[in-house]
Amino acid sequence: MTAKAPLFNRLALIGMGLIGSSIARAARAQGVVRSIVATARSAPTRRRVTELGIADQVIETNAAAVEGADLVIVCIPVGACGEVAKEVGLHLMKGATISDVGSVKGSVVRDMAPHLPAGIHFVPAHPVAGTEYSGPDAGFAELFVNRWCILTPPENTDGAAVDRLKAFWSELGANVETMTPDHHDLVLAVTSHLPHLIAYTIVGTADELAQVTRKEVLQFSAGGFRDFTRIAASDPTMWRDVFLANKEAVLEMLGRFNEDVSALTRAIRRGDGEALFNHFTRTRAIRKGIVAIGQDSPSPDFGRPHPDLPHEPLPRPYAAEGE
Ligand code: NAP
Repeated sequence: MTAKAPLFNRLALIGMGLIGSSIARAARAQGVVRSIVATARSAPTRRRVTELGIADQVIETNAAAVEGADLVIVCIPVGACGEVAKEVGLHLMKGATISDVGSVKGSVVRDMAPHLPAGIHFVPAHPVAGTEYSGPDAGFAELFVNRWCILTPPENTDGAAVDRLKAFWSELGANVETMTPDHHDLVLAVTSHLPHLIAYTIVGTADELAQVTRKEVLQFSAGGFRDFTRIAASDPTMWRDVFLANKEAVLEMLGRFNEDVSALTRAIRRGDGEALFNHFTRTRAIRKGIVAIGQDSPSPDFGRPHPDLPHEPLPRPYAAEGE
């Protein structure tokens, strides 16, 4: 059997945290690129990437990293994408594809596109996969397996470039979907951004309750609260940027959420058991639907064991709420 030809010759990764380092590991494992160059903002991260040996070359500056690369993926917080596009725009190879992995797409398109010269294919992407861990040690090659990767190419983007990036993500194990940036941001506001906001809120609320000591919070966190604490441990920089960048859609979803909380509050106050029962029956069916389409497992601790991470207990990398 002959080996498949790599889809790209040289992949440049800017930012080597959870997502960048997972792409490096997965791209190498699948042989989808001939070589991988990586760069990161700080010297300690670059040093760690070198030690881990997950890239063929680790380069100091963003501009130097993109030279000669036919695929560039920017894997940094969304608020920093515009600056980086400005820095690398004129150094990109003609015909290269530049993409990102940001959790918000409208702002990334607005911030990056103006800095990209003609002859460059800009195909923004969002792999809907993650964990609450950060940094190059947190990544692993299987992160994207059976997760969605959403591409949001601007209208006039070259179809062949989009197809090539689709093939890249498919090789990494992802299911690929295409949609507009605005639609992406609305969908993710309710499926990802609002749940994170709720987790950040509830964990903060519990912590502030004087009578609930930290010990009790930990002791009784075997139930739903434990899942909230995991989500609320997600990277503060990344999530600050997400809420600032997806302000409109998050506020819209928060408005709807507040209305629904008010309805449930009223049902509890009035002792309306039927309203509560009907609501919980509907949400239980939604959960069953998510399991049925393979986006989560029925087991309480979903996810395959992660061989590389030192954390005990092992994280649940495939949990739908990771992102
Ligand atoms: P991460 O593990 O915290 O890594 C972030 C990387 O970005 C690091 O290499 C960091 O460099 C670099 N960086 C941070 N601020 C920067 C700046 N101002 N300029 C240049 N580089 C900067 O983060 P991540 O989880 O991989 O997230 C990266 C992107 O993926 C974000 O846009 C996020 O929205 C998106 N995403 C995240 C998840 C998730 O669940 N975590 C899932 C899907 C998509 P240093 O290490 O040198 O500081």
